[in-house]
Amino acid sequence: MSEYIVEPKSRKDLRQLAYFFRKKLGLLNVLYFPIVELLDIMYELFEGYSYEIVPDSFFPPNVHADTEITKKHIRIKESVYIGATMGNGRDRMTIAHEIGHYITLCVCGFSFQRNFKNEEVPVYCMPEWQAKCFAGELMVAYHLTSELSCLEIEEKCGVTISAAMYQYDKMHA
Ligand SMILES: [Zn+2]
Repeated sequence: MSEYIVEPKSRKDLRQLAYFFRKKLGLLNVLYFPIVELLDIMYELFEGYSYEIVPDSFFPPNVHADTEITKKHIRIKESVYIGATMGNGRDRMTIAHEIGHYITLCVCGFSFQRNFKNEEVPVYCMPEWQAKCFAGELMVAYHLTSELSCLEIEEKCGVTISAAMYQYDKMHA
């Protein structure tokens, strides 16, 4: 049961949002998305935005980062940040996921409310799904990768093989 509900947004909508975001950043033709650098660039784009690298002990072991929506603040575990700077695909995607939360909830303001009635929530109305979907579409740009193999996507986009296969399946579904 999801605790929160957001507006329905399809993969197609989120793919388009990722495309416009890349366009705004002048990164339409860049296969390897500079996700770590984006953390600093976002100060110039979004008023009130901030991020912080926190010691690994700050979060429980299964939490790698989070986004405080009301404070427009992203927190990233130190080991994840370092991993991402070294090109670790999983860590790069973790940062993209938090930026996904930031863009969908803090910037686009997809309405976000507590699921008081505890209704069954369709998957595309869940913030987690939307952040994951946006992150995948941002890191693996459809318009650049639709002709690539999974291995090429993994290598050129700097994502894990499982993320590459996931995006590949969505593109060729
Ligand atoms: Zn999340």
